[in-house]
Amino acid sequence: MRVLVVEDETRLAHALRRGLTADGFAVDVAGDGATGLEKARHGDFDAVLLDVMLPRLSGYDVVRTLRAEDNWVPVLMLSAKDGEHDQADGLDCGADDYLTKPFSYVVLLAHLRSLLRRAPQARPAVLGTGDVSLDPATRKVTVADRPVELTPREYGLLEYLLRRPGRVVTKTEILDHVWDSAAELSPNVVEVYVGYLRRKLGRHLVETVRGAGYRLQP
Ligand code: CA
Repeated sequence: MRVLVVEDETRLAHALRRGLTADGFAVDVAGDGATGLEKARHGDFDAVLLDVMLPRLSGYDVVRTLRAEDNWVPVLMLSAKDGEHDQADGLDCGADDYLTKPFSYVVLLAHLRSLLRRAPQARPAVLGTGDVSLDPATRKVTVADRPVELTPREYGLLEYLLRRPGRVVTKTEILDHVWDSAAELSPNVVEVYVGYLRRKLGRHLVETVRGAGYRLQP
């Protein structure tokens, strides 16, 4: 497995290279964000260990850029910051996992192994289709870059559909995942809310598949 370490603290970078190499990984090291981004773009890595505070380009910017370019290499962020907010920022810009410095090498290795068990697949931080976009981090929804106000339930329904583009989802599935006490609700409530979404976001966004359910236009 090939791992890219993007870290500007030379001692930590060396220690990681030494440890990971001893554990059988092929290791590349970059000492700043811009070099890290270049290497990650072209290197076909199985995982990236990415510091947050880096010269030239921050770790946040590196992971955001990779995701925007449709690069889904698993990213584990490493940071000296320990505020909850920073962790959330890292994960929201597209990282898969987060470790706060100082960390033990054994724990790092466990996180890395867990990342490598997942195959890289598209995990966009911002969801969208056509001109509709939804950012789960800020809960902002826009149509053609114009913000749209959704109720929490409309938002939940839209997010559920956006995570299943082009797939037919039944009313029951929607009820189970978007409403919490589905047992007491009639599937008709789904119809009503699909109607609200169409009104706010465009008539053709959600297609009715007769007798089956709904499908979001990809
Ligand atoms: Ca640093």
